[in-house]
Amino acid sequence: MSALLIHGARVLRSDLKTCDPADVLVDAGYIRAIEPPGRITSGNAEIIEAADRLLVPGLVNGHTHAHGSLGKGAVADRVPLEVFLSASGAINGSRTLDDKKLSATLTAVELVRKGCTAAYDLFVEYPVPSREGLDAVAEAYGAVGMRAVIAPMMADRTLYEALPGLAKSLPDRLQEQARQIKAAPHEASVAAVREILANWRYDRDTLRPALGPTIPLHCSDEFLVACARLADEYDVSLQTHLAESKAQAVLGYKRYGRSLVAHLQALDVLGPRLSAAHGIWLDGDDILRLAAAGTGVVHNPMSNLRLGSGIAPVRALMDAGVNLAIGTDASNTSDGQNMFEALRLAAYLSRVGDADPARWLSAEEAFRAATEGSAGVLGFDRVGRLEPAYRADIVFLDLGHINYVPLRNPLRQMVFGENGAAIDSVMIDGRFVLRDRRMLTVDEVHLRQQAEEAVARLDMENANAARAADKFRDLVGHFCLAHARAPFHIHRRLPDVS
Ligand SMILES: [Zn+2]
Repeated sequence: MSALLIHGARVLRSDLKTCDPADVLVDAGYIRAIEPPGRITSGNAEIIEAADRLLVPGLVNGHTHAHGSLGKGAVADRVPLEVFLSASGAINGSRTLDDKKLSATLTAVELVRKGCTAAYDLFVEYPVPSREGLDAVAEAYGAVGMRAVIAPMMADRTLYEALPGLAKSLPDRLQEQARQIKAAPHEASVAAVREILANWRYDRDTLRPALGPTIPLHCSDEFLVACARLADEYDVSLQTHLAESKAQAVLGYKRYGRSLVAHLQALDVLGPRLSAAHGIWLDGDDILRLAAAGTGVVHNPMSNLRLGSGIAPVRALMDAGVNLAIGTDASNTSDGQNMFEALRLAAYLSRVGDADPARWLSAEEAFRAATEGSAGVLGFDRVGRLEPAYRADIVFLDLGHINYVPLRNPLRQMVFGENGAAIDSVMIDGRFVLRDRRMLTVDEVHLRQQAEEAVARLDMENANAARAADKFRDLVGHFCLAHARAPFHIHRRLPDVS
């Protein structure tokens, strides 16, 4: 592929303040130079005219789920996390390898269309992850042209085994039904992911494997420890859903006699390889533990609001030195893959409950979390900035779009006003994936047809599972509501570290 000279655009530099017109030279997947217009000699480079465009680094999604896109619209309104989880078999069941690939493709296309160029994906298969399943997801991201970290999401306890007291709270006949639901023993999952890690055949600069022990309560201690050791052995990262709901936090104390974070620390699972999705129900000690361990936190504000999970203490996390990333979570719990919405919500939610404007997340901080912060969690090198020697992962925004008319402060107007509507083109690794609003790598008409056919078939095949889940729905909801209403005080005041 020949070099490209992008001419005439405004370029958001890594100080997130400079936004002057500049020429950008891209070659072999990297940004080679950014100079005032006319200063780079084009040589053999193909000229890309980009007047009236604002170039910004591709957004990096710190937490999503490939399987979520075929579940769009399947999650009822007013559903909290545990009720959602009780129906996950009905939402994700009966999927063929083609369905898994299709769902990942839908996720990736939506991510690109909304300005995201890399994602950390926790992808689920029942009962154990398979090499073919991971391949299906990797091939989907590869075909769309995105970077992705793909982690099989695993558990060795069902929801009814994970939450202490839940099974016993059910009527006898449902207790028996809950016992019929089986999670795979951790040895089976560990053996499966070991095979996946040992045989990974994709370029790790674009597609890399990771591990996803889904939720601490849903994984035995042996399983959590085995995942951490496997991550060390194969030099990969791992991600878990941590303290996402209040019921999790309360039941964590019930099971472990300490906080979820303290428990992970005691197991020696905390560390820089681990990232924690959500991290809402954390106290000051938990935050310091995460900071000391170098464990990043991925803030998923849209999903946290949709499921009523709560508001993550982002300022306290940042004060303690925790790397803050931003994610969308799955398309079934945040109803889309919009990183622009996620970063705007991150900025705004930080303003709820704290009257001091100096402690609100600024536009710069939110954008940095959604680019460099998330890139730190994904582990890709030189991603998240527009600077020479960085990867050419670039979003082209149309400054003629009403979002930017009139133009006064590009960064602020983008963070607080962009919703993806002004995205004109997206380049990943120096290659246009979306150009002039058209996906170049995927036939979206065919994709839609496949998705409609798959959903019609899957909804029929999963109808019994959905009816079975309905019987548990209210009971799980009441059990978790009782715990969510329990007195549980979070002390987030951090010791003065200065
Ligand atoms: Zn999630």
